[in-house]
Amino acid sequence: MTRRLGIIGYPIAHSLSPAIFQAALGHYGLDISYEAWEIAPHELKGFVEEVRTPEAEVLGFNVTVPHKEMIMVYIDEVSPEAQKAVAVNTIFNQEGLLHGHNTDGAGFIRALKEEAKFSFDGSRVLILGAGGAARGVVMALASENLKSFTIANRTLDRCKRLARDLKRHWKGDLRSISLKADDLRKAAQEADLIVQCTTVGMLHGPDSDGALLTAEDISPKALVYDLVYNPPETPFMKEARRAGASVFGGLSMLVYQGAIGFEMWTGKEAPVEVMFKAARKTLESSTT
Ligand code: NAP
Repeated sequence: MTRRLGIIGYPIAHSLSPAIFQAALGHYGLDISYEAWEIAPHELKGFVEEVRTPEAEVLGFNVTVPHKEMIMVYIDEVSPEAQKAVAVNTIFNQEGLLHGHNTDGAGFIRALKEEAKFSFDGSRVLILGAGGAARGVVMALASENLKSFTIANRTLDRCKRLARDLKRHWKGDLRSISLKADDLRKAAQEADLIVQCTTVGMLHGPDSDGALLTAEDISPKALVYDLVYNPPETPFMKEARRAGASVFGGLSMLVYQGAIGFEMWTGKEAPVEVMFKAARKTLESSTT
């Protein structure tokens, strides 16, 4: 019997995950399928009960918007990383017991270390955004040896909440500011690492043409990472390139967070190059 993996979200049609995981499973010739399951919020509880049953043959699944937080109510165990991030993106089914993990943060760190060869020691970090993705990134960065954190968000309250939670895990120099603050330019000019964690610049997002900083705000010595992966080059990334910074889009984080899930589910080393190739091919066909 073919076993199953998948991703749940609402909507889910544009997810790159099926292409990435099908390529990885195909690489090893495993008899496991990976599907996209569109689950509306009111269907979530029933879905979770169904996948627990042995007949469902579900090894695990990925979780995306809008279920990352709510799913925590219905599963059996939540890892420390997922608790810190207040979000679960990967579920492992162990004979009906569902274990929730968050691989976004670890995927981000791996992307920076392997793709960008970035050394975190003593870095001044500017985070743009304070939503779910920013939370995962910030909590993972808290385990690195940073010099300072500035978190900037449109809604200051949300940013302050994230900073307060981060303080429990990180004792260094920490500021939370609004995107309108004069301090933002100064923080951007001083930052060694700028991580763009908002939906600004995202294809079909609320502000797809926008960029939160211009080239003049960014140091040529900075490393700039935009979590957005579609389009592969956002307006913000163009500004950062114009500043002379080293610039990376979010595809590597997507692939590496998936690689961690793949290894958990199959016990095999993730074929990262195969996964990158499948992701790029699918992205190209979706943007042309
Ligand atoms: P979210 O929880 O909805 O948070 C959205 C964030 O964007 C908030 O900080 C929000 O600010 C900000 N924002 C939205 N519109 C804005 C605007 N017009 N101007 C300024 N700020 C604005 O979303 P999320 O889950 O964190 O996802 C954020 C992005 O990360 C998405 O593009 C997603 O695709 C990407 N992502 C990538 C990966 C990867 O593997 N590469 C993984 C996860 C997420 P307010 O608080 O003021 O609303």
